[in-house]
Amino acid sequence: MSVVMKFGGTSVADPDAINRLIGIVRGQQAKSANRSAPVVVVSALAGVTDTLVAVAQMAEDGEGARAATELEALQERHLTVAAAVTSASRAKLLADVRCEFQELTGLVHALAVLREVSPRSRDAVHAVGEVVSSRIVAAAFADQGVPSAWIDARTVLVTDAEHNAAAPDMIETCERARARVAPELAAGNVAVLGGFIGATAHGVTSTLGRGGSDYSAAIFGACLDVDEIQIWTDVDGMLTADPRIVPQPRVVPQLSFAEASELAYFGAKVLHPSTILPAVTKNIPVRILNSRKPENAGTRITADAMPDAGRLTAIACKRDVTVIDITSTRMLMAHGFLRRLFEVFERFKTAVDVVTTSEVSVSVTVDDTRRLEAILDNLHNFAEASCEREMAIICAVGENLRADPTLFGKAVTSLDRIPLRLVSQAASRRNITFVLRNSDVPHAMMRLHETFF
Ligand code: ASP
Ligand code: MG
Repeated sequence: MSVVMKFGGTSVADPDAINRLIGIVRGQQAKSANRSAPVVVVSALAGVTDTLVAVAQMAEDGEGARAATELEALQERHLTVAAAVTSASRAKLLADVRCEFQELTGLVHALAVLREVSPRSRDAVHAVGEVVSSRIVAAAFADQGVPSAWIDARTVLVTDAEHNAAAPDMIETCERARARVAPELAAGNVAVLGGFIGATAHGVTSTLGRGGSDYSAAIFGACLDVDEIQIWTDVDGMLTADPRIVPQPRVVPQLSFAEASELAYFGAKVLHPSTILPAVTKNIPVRILNSRKPENAGTRITADAMPDAGRLTAIACKRDVTVIDITSTRMLMAHGFLRRLFEVFERFKTAVDVVTTSEVSVSVTVDDTRRLEAILDNLHNFAEASCEREMAIICAVGENLRADPTLFGKAVTSLDRIPLRLVSQAASRRNITFVLRNSDVPHAMMRLHETFF
C-alpha cells in the first residue's frame, strides 16, 4: 500500500515527537505488504510559523534587532532538536540548519533596513520552518536505520505567483513528483518533504497559506496516486460533537467529504476540507490519526462514505448568531423580492448562513453583526424587519438523512420542548439545521447526541 503521511507541527514539536513519528512510519512500512516506502510530509515544528510571521512583521516595522534575537532563539531550538534525533549525520545536519538560518537572518536584516516586506519576501521568511523541519526529520530517519531522502518541496510543488496563498499547478507538480519523488520510493527510501511550501515556475519560494501542509499532502498524494493520505495530528479524529458541550463524544469512524465540509463551518477544525480536495477528487481516502495513539483507527474521509444505517455522522453548533426576520405582504407572489433583500446583505458585506422562507416572510441568520443597524435600516425601506440576538445554530449532519426519512422526525422529537426558531433542510438532505436560543444549546446537543450516538 502506498501512502502519504503528513505530520503536523505538534507531531514534530520536539525530539520525542520526532521519535514517535519515526516509530509510526516504521510501523506503516512493516504493515504494508510490499514494504513500499511512504512519502512523509512535515509541518514546521509547533509554533515556528507563528514566530516567523512575527519576525516578518518586526522587519516590516524596522525592528531588526528584535527580529534577530527571535531568529537566534529559533535557531537554537532547531539545533537542539536536530542534535537530539541524529548521530552519524549530526554534524552535517547542524551545518545545514545553521546555513538556512544564516541566510534567513541576512534576509530579515535587509527587510528590516528597508522596512518593506512584500508578499514574496514574506513567503521566503515563512517557508524556512518547513525547510528545516523536513531536513531534520529526513536526517533522523537515516540515522535510525530508515533509508530516506530529503527532497526540497520547492523543487516539486510548482505554484502560481499568488504569494501567501499560492495555488498549485497540478500538471507541472505531478510531472515533477513522478520524476523526483517516485524514484526514491521505488528505491525504498522514505521521501521527506516540507509541507506548505513550493515555488513558482521561476523558482521563487511561495507558500500555500497557513495550515497548508495538509494541502501539500493531498497534492503529492493525488500526483502519486497513493492508496491513502494520513494526516497525523494531536486529536483522535473528527468527533460526533464538541467535547466542551457533550461530555463523551465519539470519534466519527468515517465520513464523506461533503459531511466534512458541512462540519468545518461549525469549527470542527481538524482540517480544512478544501485542502484535501485534490485527494478526494481522485477518490483517495484521507485518514485523520493521532500520533500519540497510533493504534487507533482515526477518522476516514472519502468521497462517498455512508454512516451505518439509522445513524447520523456528527452534530455541531455555533453560538451567538443573530436571527433577522423580514416580513412583507408585498412579497406575496411577487418576484424580485429575495434579490432586493439579499442585495442589502451584499451591500454591507455580511454573510448569511441559515435561510428559511414562507410566503410573506424570510428569516436569516448572520454571524457578523457589525453592520446590523445599517442592514435593518435598509430593509425597512421595503419590509418590516426585526432581529433577535443570542441565538445558536445546531447542525446535524449525515448522508443517511436522504435515504431515511425517519431520522428527521427523530431529531425533532428528541428536542421535545426546546423552542426551535428556524428549521431547515436543503434538497441535498445531508444536514438538518436548527436555530434556537444560545441558552438551549447544551440541553439540545445532549438530547440529539443521546438519540443518535
Ligand atoms: N506551518 C504552517 C502553518 O503553521 C503550515 C502547516 O502547519 O500546515 O500554517
Ligand atoms: Mg496545521
